[in-house]
Amino acid sequence: MHYIDVILPLPLQKLFTYEINPEEAVFLQIGMRVVVPFGKRKIYTGVIFNIHQNAPIAYDAREIHQILDENPIVTVKQIAHWQWISEYYMCSLGEVLRAAIPSALLLQSETIIIKNPDFTDEKLLSDNEFLIFEALQHQSTLSIDKISAILSRKTVLPFIKSLLDKGVIKVKEVIYEKYTPKLIKYIRLSEKWERTENLQLLLDKLSRSPKQREAILHFFQTKNATKKPIPLTAFVKKNKLNYSVIKALLDKGFFESYTLQEDRIKAGESTLQIPVLNKFQNKALKEIKSYFKTTGLVALYGVTGSGKTEIYAHLIEAELARGKQVLYLVPEIALTTQLIQRLELYFGDRISVFHSRYSMNERVEVWQNILKNKTKARLIVGARSAIFLPFQDLGLIVVDEEHETSYKQYDPAPRYHARDSAVVLAKQMYAKLLMGTATPSIETYTNIEKGKYSLVSLKERYGKALLPEIALVNLTDAYRRKRMTGHFSERLLQVMQEALKNKEQVILFQNRRGYAPIVECNSCGISPQCPNCDVSLTYHKFQKELRCHYCGFAAPMPIECPACHNPSLSTKGFGTQQLESEVKELFPDHKVGRMDFDTTRGKYDYHRIISSFQAQEIDILVGTQMLSKGLDFTNVSLVGVMNADNMLNFPDFRAHERSFQMLVQVSGRAGRSEKRGKVIIQTFNPNHRILQQVTTNNYKEMYKEQLVDRWNYKYPPYYRLIKITLKHKDYNRVNQASEWLGTSFRNHFKDWVLGPAAPAIGRVRNLYIKELILKLPLDQSIPTVKKQIQKIKNHFQSIGEFRSVRFNVDVDNY
Ligand code: ADP
Ligand code: ZN
Repeated sequence: MHYIDVILPLPLQKLFTYEINPEEAVFLQIGMRVVVPFGKRKIYTGVIFNIHQNAPIAYDAREIHQILDENPIVTVKQIAHWQWISEYYMCSLGEVLRAAIPSALLLQSETIIIKNPDFTDEKLLSDNEFLIFEALQHQSTLSIDKISAILSRKTVLPFIKSLLDKGVIKVKEVIYEKYTPKLIKYIRLSEKWERTENLQLLLDKLSRSPKQREAILHFFQTKNATKKPIPLTAFVKKNKLNYSVIKALLDKGFFESYTLQEDRIKAGESTLQIPVLNKFQNKALKEIKSYFKTTGLVALYGVTGSGKTEIYAHLIEAELARGKQVLYLVPEIALTTQLIQRLELYFGDRISVFHSRYSMNERVEVWQNILKNKTKARLIVGARSAIFLPFQDLGLIVVDEEHETSYKQYDPAPRYHARDSAVVLAKQMYAKLLMGTATPSIETYTNIEKGKYSLVSLKERYGKALLPEIALVNLTDAYRRKRMTGHFSERLLQVMQEALKNKEQVILFQNRRGYAPIVECNSCGISPQCPNCDVSLTYHKFQKELRCHYCGFAAPMPIECPACHNPSLSTKGFGTQQLESEVKELFPDHKVGRMDFDTTRGKYDYHRIISSFQAQEIDILVGTQMLSKGLDFTNVSLVGVMNADNMLNFPDFRAHERSFQMLVQVSGRAGRSEKRGKVIIQTFNPNHRILQQVTTNNYKEMYKEQLVDRWNYKYPPYYRLIKITLKHKDYNRVNQASEWLGTSFRNHFKDWVLGPAAPAIGRVRNLYIKELILKLPLDQSIPTVKKQIQKIKNHFQSIGEFRSVRFNVDVDNY
């Protein structure tokens, strides 16, 4: 007898075994999809993990319903990596499968299908397919269960698959936005000059602006050479122009700009040579290459603006030339339009972007292209979940901005860290790995010191740019001496005026969104709370609404206090919206833009704000930490941090490290051209160690001092953290459960256990929360501890009253 073990997309601890016949045993391979029955009535698509001849002991193996593939769609190497993730992060292989694979490849009973309105040619359909097609003429959606009933047979997935292949139906996507192509900005001559075609006259007009003349000449050269629309970004890069020159030509009416749509997946040919490296970059590149031969794991610690991206590009080019695949991990795809544009210029149609916001069809397409090692998917740019893709021949992984927290997935399982998982992936696939940052995480720097990663440093900014000059402004003092206008110190206003006078741009950073986050009643002191979560609601001025940032609850701003009914609600604190209003009042002659979560909800909002800031249509850009992420604007000479204290005081053991990283990163947006930039940080605590370390750019000192704290308070990198979270809608139930678990943990783990305790926000989406944290010394065998936790979890879940309590494990919760 032959059997297969199947990974089902469910949180089951064990794999399920199914029986197959001898012909199937010959045909089937690990990584193919099969449709199997599960439980009384359900069917699932699963992936074959193993083929063998051992009957399961505890139950009779059932037969599979159907085989969906002729070739594996998941590779054996991939499964090995998933296994590591599942063991290390204590989740099921099924949970990894679900996170890894586009759900269109995992049809199951609950999947909903809809008809494809473009399909008309019914003659192509078999009888059963036609029945489904016909049913969809009467009902807009059908579940797979329903289809089973219509055809009165259990095995319907093959028909569904064939209907999908023929384009008759689509899988309904509830949570995914529809894919729309991105917009690219182009420039052309304005109508007047296009008509006269008098180049000489045009050049004469610009005789006193040599840079603009030069730009016009480049424009005509490009126009004559390509006879195609001229994209703004590529044109500026290629001819080493300044955006301000183009802006002047637009303002004077010589040029005009327009936008066209471009298919995101189908990039064109590469249009730009990767730049020649300077001597510092070259030295770094050589060092990286030599470490690749020994450790294979390199951390590139290069200051902001040192040109790390260009070094990556050279390494990528070398891998692509050898026919290898390259994975380029970024913290958030939505925030990397500038980077992707640059890579598209260098690598053209060899680049594929894997994005969870893309439609299912596109994600399936990228998956298939990587699996088949197609040339158009040799360089894959993606956020954390791209580590799950079916690489065939991976040569290099780049982890950009390795310190970013968005590499960690917190919910749902698998709760993995993409940087750490990428290190394992690189080892398993014999690929090299390069992680880059201007502010290494404490974990990474520790790994460098331990010799796990080789360090390559790059201390000079590219070109003649210097690191900005950073100054602290003492707010306590400024308020006392009445030197404040709204939230602006005299000093900040003064340097803003200077910068604007010189036609330079300004970025203002405020670590909060919304207008004035908290609303408080001046009579009774109560703040309106979210009905579903234990948190105060946030005031959003433009919508005149109170909103919950945890569950999305929104209500109109009440006129009177909901508790004491006095009309005395007022706003406390201050966010980006209020900052924007203040700036507009203070600088009525300048254009102000805002970038935060609320202004970048739509898919292209972020891109639009970035492009118009880049094109210098905005003078002052106000925003949240989004502004700290890898943006490159040449004309920004000043960055102002409105208040450094709220991030320093955040109740988290990483708050200081994160503040250092954030402040250095936002500062890094200033002064990327020849003139040295300025950064002004306003604070009530100018003597704070972290702020001192930011101003002197003293990473090493910050690192050493943080290590002392981490050791004293038992935190990583000296201890490992495993966090258990229990959730239930009944407070008493979760409380009891957490007491039971606390006792049980203490029996085994003694004083490594912290809690149970309610987190800062004790209820979210109507579920009460309790947490337990294990702080494990590094010399403990982690696999043994994890086995013990699993045992306790199994016992916990065998207790009737606790069965409905959610039990989440988060390993390396940093
Ligand atoms: P980082 O990622 O290290 O902050 P970037 O890669 O964004 O730095 O580089 C900063 C700026 O310098 C970019 O505008 C980039 O185009 C430019 N630059 C870096 N290296 C080179 C080079 N070798 N030739 C031309 N321009 C470069
Ligand atoms: Zn809420």
